[in-house]
Amino acid sequence: MVIKMEHLSISKTEGIKSFTLPKLPYDYKALAPYMSEEQLKLHHDKHHQGYVNGANAIFEKLDKARKENTDLDVKTTLKDLSFHIGGHLLHSTFWDNMAPPGKGGGKPGGAIADVINKEFGSFERFKAEFSKAAASVEGSGWAVLAMQQCVDRPLIMQVEKHNVNVYPGFRILMALDVWEHAYYVDYRNDRGKFVEGFWSVVNWDYVNKVLKLVK
Ligand code: MN
Repeated sequence: MVIKMEHLSISKTEGIKSFTLPKLPYDYKALAPYMSEEQLKLHHDKHHQGYVNGANAIFEKLDKARKENTDLDVKTTLKDLSFHIGGHLLHSTFWDNMAPPGKGGGKPGGAIADVINKEFGSFERFKAEFSKAAASVEGSGWAVLAMQQCVDRPLIMQVEKHNVNVYPGFRILMALDVWEHAYYVDYRNDRGKFVEGFWSVVNWDYVNKVLKLVK
């Protein structure tokens, strides 16, 4: 299994001056029927590419302003940058934390199973809490599972938009995109059904790999 984790650590991308759209770690058809080819293509090629382009355009703007020593609306620029970088990082995690049904889905094993059971009591309880977090994010947003390294406990977070949540230090273990663009081709306005489908493609091997990095 190929797991690309370059996006997980800024230091690992040192020297690279622009973001690039990562290839999906599976075929566009591979997550059907939970996410269709049409939905995934649109989401990856259009929406995710948009964040990559947006972040790179802001870097160009920053470089130009610094080189020419011209004025810059720092507040707006930093907010725009965090929006695009946040979108890029979350989407990169999202693609990696899914796998074709059969390989993905089911109950987690390994260290993540222990972490979940210890914190939530059972996988079923965790799944219910995470699903509720995903279903109830206001507007466009994400449900993510992160590790609070300071107290060694996992935490479910609702990331509204993603221009304010890029930089906290909690390491994200998995992410679920619940912006409408993530599911309207397949599920129209039925976010709950999309969230249910996610559990058939969640990639626990990936989650365990990230967990190993932080523990
Ligand atoms: Mn998205």
